[in-house]
Amino acid sequence: MNIVDMLAPLGSTVRKGKEMINCVGVTIHNTGNSSPGAGALNHAKYLRGDGQYRVPGWHYAVDDEIAACSIPDGEIAEHTGTRQGNDTTLGIEICMNPDSDIRKATDNAAELTAMKLSAMGYNMAVWKENLFQHNDWSGKDCPSQIRRGIPYDWSTFVSKVNGHMKGSTWQPPTFVITHLLKKGMDDAEVIHITRNLKALGYTERKTSIFDADIERVVMEFQKEHGLTADGIVGRQTTEALGGKWDPNYVAPPEINPPTEEPDEPKKGPLVIDRLTEEEKKRALIEDGAQRENN
Ligand SMILES: [Zn+2]
Repeated sequence: MNIVDMLAPLGSTVRKGKEMINCVGVTIHNTGNSSPGAGALNHAKYLRGDGQYRVPGWHYAVDDEIAACSIPDGEIAEHTGTRQGNDTTLGIEICMNPDSDIRKATDNAAELTAMKLSAMGYNMAVWKENLFQHNDWSGKDCPSQIRRGIPYDWSTFVSKVNGHMKGSTWQPPTFVITHLLKKGMDDAEVIHITRNLKALGYTERKTSIFDADIERVVMEFQKEHGLTADGIVGRQTTEALGGKWDPNYVAPPEINPPTEEPDEPKKGPLVIDRLTEEEKKRALIEDGAQRENN
């Protein structure tokens, strides 16, 4: 995908040139324009023509071939219908004209989103933390196509963004699950599971409480990943979520972590044997000195 700069005129209504001081993420749209020819290039042309005297604006319009930049990353665009959304996020419009392959266009938008989030310093896209639907800000039915599962649903879009980030710096958050997690539990390990389900767009809740809602979400995740959809988190579901399954794992104490290797004897002849002659001598002297002091 080529990214083409076709900036709207600076100082126009659509591009006031106001600096975005606090950019926290990306907001996704569908253009709402299903007319033939309403691709990325023509959207950018529009913001250089009549569209420059109006709002809304957007940073990028993406179709199956290119991403056209109308407003540069460091400037505010009015694309969310809310002050907060405009002041803190980049707007990416996915084209939905019939002459553009919407699957490829949406894939391109996922790739561009990953690039932008990586540039902001993130290693993972998290819905409602750094990746938003227009709907999250104003309640508008946008991105209208993704919200209808065209060409795929939102959680797939978020996964695709993360897939691109994986290629560069994305690391799944490491966590360990030590026992089966299921409905009815209030368990700290459930937080690991729900955090990642949230990051993948399956739920909005990061919680320790495994209730019926979380069970439903787990089943949905399992179904989409070819696992037995029983709503119980065991080894396979843990691993599919990027975690480690280890029933024998003992969490290290949080306060005063041990400074020695656990298999290292603390005292005794074995330690002395490993010391050089020089160190042995010194150890014995110090030992003696301590005894004298005591
Ligand atoms: Zn929108």
